[in-house]
Amino acid sequence: MDGHILPDDIRDDGRPRDECGVFAVFGHVDAAAHTALGLHALQHRGQESAGIVSYEQGHFNTHCGLGLVGDMFSSQNVMERLAGDSAVGHVRYSTTGSTILRNVQPLFAEFSFGGLAIAHNGNFTNGYSLRRELVMRGAIFQSTTDTEVLIHLMATSSYHAVEDRMIDALKQIEGAYSMVALTNDTVFGVRDPLGVRPLVIGTLDGAMILASETCALDIIGAEFVRDVRPGELVVIDAEGLHSVSPFPPARHRFCVFEYIYFARPDSVVEGSGVYDVRKRIGAELAREAPVDADIVVPVPDSGTPGAMGYAVESGIPYDLGIIRNHYVGRTFIEPTDQIRHLGVRLKHNANRASIAGKKIVLVDDSIVRGTTSTKIVEMMRSAGAAEVHMRIASPPITNSCYYGVDTPEKEKLLAARLEIDEIADTIGADSLVYLSIDGLYRATAGEPRDNEAPQFCDACLSGDYPIRLVDLEDGDIPAQLSLLAE
Ligand code: AMP
Repeated sequence: MDGHILPDDIRDDGRPRDECGVFAVFGHVDAAAHTALGLHALQHRGQESAGIVSYEQGHFNTHCGLGLVGDMFSSQNVMERLAGDSAVGHVRYSTTGSTILRNVQPLFAEFSFGGLAIAHNGNFTNGYSLRRELVMRGAIFQSTTDTEVLIHLMATSSYHAVEDRMIDALKQIEGAYSMVALTNDTVFGVRDPLGVRPLVIGTLDGAMILASETCALDIIGAEFVRDVRPGELVVIDAEGLHSVSPFPPARHRFCVFEYIYFARPDSVVEGSGVYDVRKRIGAELAREAPVDADIVVPVPDSGTPGAMGYAVESGIPYDLGIIRNHYVGRTFIEPTDQIRHLGVRLKHNANRASIAGKKIVLVDDSIVRGTTSTKIVEMMRSAGAAEVHMRIASPPITNSCYYGVDTPEKEKLLAARLEIDEIADTIGADSLVYLSIDGLYRATAGEPRDNEAPQFCDACLSGDYPIRLVDLEDGDIPAQLSLLAE
């Protein structure tokens, strides 16, 4: 999760910010070290803070803070302190703000039954409303994350057993989420009823692992078992794993943007390899939007598999017309517009040798604010490109995500403001074509979008929000926030 009830966030753009990865281990002597490695593989899901909580004979050990996983968990001292054979971990992106440290996850709380650490990817769409009720009833919040709502709901539940308290709390929460939690003897993993965010189960030397993506299983040599099912709560303890279904069955609506951009290409999510899907998306794009050009150039790294698919399908040679500096974080994830602009220049440079005098097809996975495309088209022209044709491996992003992917407010989304030809003018491309929604569905679901019962959550592309936006509809967020002001 992530947190967003910060007044700072409200000053920024008033929207939730949540991109996160979660990881858990039950029953391995090196639980924390494996968790650190797993989080390292999930670093693309959040780069501002990281944390691990482990459990060892009567105590919970914590190390959380701001920074990259590799920097935070490289010292032997830190890893020795994180002893124990079970652990949960989290990586997170959030906005800047003075209160950010209190929101670093996993969150930990002492209950009547003992300690519980929880790590969350996603967003509770009724988090503000629940929080307001809890505060009215006397709850005192330590953080401004919506994750803490779950802790309070569990603490005040009339049930006794931890599992029952968790189910009781989950039933009151609406939203899109994957969470892992740790007590003295149990690891929990849960996905929201529609399964919007990913969570997988793996095994290693008899230990059980939970992770946002399979690339985090690969890094530790764990074997993939299966996805946690939408609406499933898995409970892992000394007896093994059992599965609970706390919610009425619902139609699966996995997030299509995980395939477009968010998941790592070497992960297999919901049964499909992300790399293959992205190549298929590129091939669809080549069929839908052919162009007479000399080379296909990816915007690295996120545009790379799409460009490969485009090149193979079109027969136009693939070439590395842009070289990426890997020592810069994701452009988009920088907090201010100024830095974001600077970030683009830091990250990409034109490879004149392949560009000069050529008609090029530039392929990127998406356009959000248009910052990247504008800079890159300009860069191609200054490097001597004869023509620059932009092809986008997703339909236009016209709506904000409230389910766990960081997108700016609608007014800042280029495609929410402008027609396609106006976008082409704005970014300075000779032509611009986005993939169609049916093209995207053919590449992901293997069939066009079922408009009666869509196969994915595509709210950012269609405006069809499958989970109620309770807080947003409430329209009283500032008043709720004033309850929370520091
Ligand atoms: P922009 O420059 O604002 O148009 O953002 C588009 C670029 O950001 C593309 O190159 C995408 O690969 C990348 N991107 C798209 N969505 C996200 C996201 N939610 N977080 C970080 N980067 C993103």
